[in-house]
Amino acid sequence: MAFIRDTELVLRATVELVNTLPHTDTSGEDTMVSAEQLEDFATRHAYTGSRTHDDRELAAVRGIRNRIHELWTVDRDASVPLVNAMLRDGKALPQLVKHDGFDWHIHASDPSDALAQRILVEAAMAFVDVIRADEYARIRVCQADDCRGVYVDFSKNGSKRYCDSGNCGNRMNVNAYRRRKADQPA
Ligand SMILES: [Zn+2]
Ligand SMILES: [Zn+2]
Repeated sequence: MAFIRDTELVLRATVELVNTLPHTDTSGEDTMVSAEQLEDFATRHAYTGSRTHDDRELAAVRGIRNRIHELWTVDRDASVPLVNAMLRDGKALPQLVKHDGFDWHIHASDPSDALAQRILVEAAMAFVDVIRADEYARIRVCQADDCRGVYVDFSKNGSKRYCDSGNCGNRMNVNAYRRRKADQPA
C-alpha cells in the first residue's frame, strides 16, 4: 500500500468531510448542516479530544471544508504552501501517542484544541505523507460527468475513476450501456 494505515484512515475521513460540501455532492446538498451529522461523522471516525457540541463547533467544521477541498484542485507542488499554512495556522506539534487501542501514531494537535483545528491539522499531516510519498496523483476528482466528488485512489494499480459517495461507477456503467443500446439500429 502507498500509505500507512493511519494516513489512509485520515484521508478517508477527510474525503468524507469534503464530500459533504454541496458542490461535491451528486445531489447538490450540503450534508454537514446539523449537530447530528457532525456527531455521526465524529463518532464514525473516532475523533477523540475536547468537544463543545455547540453551533460554533459545527460552524467551524463547516468552515474548514472549502480550505481542505482546495487540496483537490492543485497539483503536488502547489499543495505544499497550502499544507504548510494549515500546519502553521493549526499550530501543529507532532507527538507520538497511543490511546484507545490504537498503536503508536502521530497527533499534531493538543486534545484541548478545537475539533475543527484538529481535523484541519490531521488532514494536513495526512497530505504531508501523500506529498512525501510522491503519491499526489492519487488525490482525484470523480470522473462521472455529473459529479464533482473527491476521492483518494487507494487501489494497487491506481486505476480508480469514481468517488464512493454517489454510486458513480455503477451509474456511469449503466449510462454507457444505454448509450451503446441507443446507438444500435432497431
Ligand atoms: Zn489518535
Ligand atoms: Zn462521483
